[in-house]
Amino acid sequence: MEKGAGALFVVTAPSGAGKTTLCQELIRGVENIRCAVSHTTRKPRPKETNGVNYHFVSEEKFQEMIDAGRFFEWARIHGNFYGTSVAEYEKARDDGVDLLLEIEGQGAMQVKKRHPGAVLIFIVTPRFADLKARLDNRGKDAPDEIERRMQHAKQEISFLPEFEYVIINDDFDEALKRLMSIVYARRSLRETMMKQLNDEYKAT
Ligand code: 5GP
Repeated sequence: MEKGAGALFVVTAPSGAGKTTLCQELIRGVENIRCAVSHTTRKPRPKETNGVNYHFVSEEKFQEMIDAGRFFEWARIHGNFYGTSVAEYEKARDDGVDLLLEIEGQGAMQVKKRHPGAVLIFIVTPRFADLKARLDNRGKDAPDEIERRMQHAKQEISFLPEFEYVIINDDFDEALKRLMSIVYARRSLRETMMKQLNDEYKAT
């Protein structure tokens, strides 16, 4: 079985681009990679479970964690705080698995600075207008929430030039294949592979 190398993958997308479903399928299809469970101060949605979808915490607790330097990255979005803890990152590294962060642009920029080896992947739909259509169709959010998400989507897209990879999620299977290929390509970097080869290779 292929081992993860403790690599970090950051996946960012405007709402409605299909990021969550793509990430879930990636985790199902590839061994030794896990999705980081973030902390947030937003209220759980129906069917969300504490410790699985997020660690749901109070604003006081979140602030305490910021002050104690316990976040790898964090951001405030729509009035709520979201962040990946250092502990989440260290645990994945110690377990020898890769970690996938499904986060927004401000956090992605902090990861890029802090961890230059992180692989940054941006997911988009073919047309900007598709985002609204998808949010309307999934029927999860009220119209004013959709409007807010669309405003935020524009902000998110402004981060796109900072990303190494872009996936256009038009055909889902094709998008998933590309996402998986990026993970395998990262795992095949010489620097990573050399650790698995014996000394004879290293001496040549
Ligand atoms: P939602 O409230 O819909 O679950 O998430 C709202 C936004 O917050 C999404 O873009 C999501 O990717 C982002 N997000 C979730 N967790 C984190 C995190 O730990 N850090 C950052 N920076 N963004 C996050």
